[in-house]
Amino acid sequence: MELSNRQEQIIEIVKDNGPITGENIADRLSLTRATLRPDLAILTMAGYLDARPRVGYFFTGKTGSELLTEKLKKFKVEEYQSIPIVVEEDVSAYDAICTMFLEDVGTLFVTNQKSQLVGVVSRKDLLRASIGNQDLSQVPVHIIMTRMPNITICEPEDLLLDAAQKLIEKQIDGLPVVNRESDGLKVIGRLTKTNITKALVELGRDQHL
Ligand code: ADP
Repeated sequence: MELSNRQEQIIEIVKDNGPITGENIADRLSLTRATLRPDLAILTMAGYLDARPRVGYFFTGKTGSELLTEKLKKFKVEEYQSIPIVVEEDVSAYDAICTMFLEDVGTLFVTNQKSQLVGVVSRKDLLRASIGNQDLSQVPVHIIMTRMPNITICEPEDLLLDAAQKLIEKQIDGLPVVNRESDGLKVIGRLTKTNITKALVELGRDQHL
């Protein structure tokens, strides 16, 4: 959302004259206080202006990109994560391929019988296993997966930005979102590049609010 001309004007007035009351801003624009109310609400919510009771509006001094960065740094993994698709370590590579197709995901998380995270299987792991002449219905996924402790994870409270950085650094498509429990890591979500893209679009479409 771009700022309207009137909103830009308000910012200039407050910059030069703040703290200034809503009434006073309205006078300078030859408008009523009521007409101005939605604009002032937007500018305050977006962080350009701050309002103090009995004092009035003042300019926060933050630029659009500073406000955007501030907002991005508040995004948490739990707000954007998807449902995890999990298979047990003894299922066959063949069944893992079927699960990937049926669930429409590119990464499966692998658990043991105690539901602890033990590995990750990606499309490429399954392609690699398909290159040989082996019967994929006889190959358990735990043979071809990337295994703990080499799994990169994230937690629900982590910043989305930190999770995104892990995806880039490790050159992977997704992270399991886990809860640390006394008996190991429990998978509660999936954070992929798609989730990050969604957050980016949301931020861009709504950038001043
Ligand atoms: P693909 O290579 O199929 O496009 P990835 O780039 O996600 O998918 O996976 C590359 C390799 O990294 C694979 O061997 C996969 O097992 C492994 N991998 C994927 N996700 C993780 C993760 N979160 N932690 C550790 N290894 C992972």
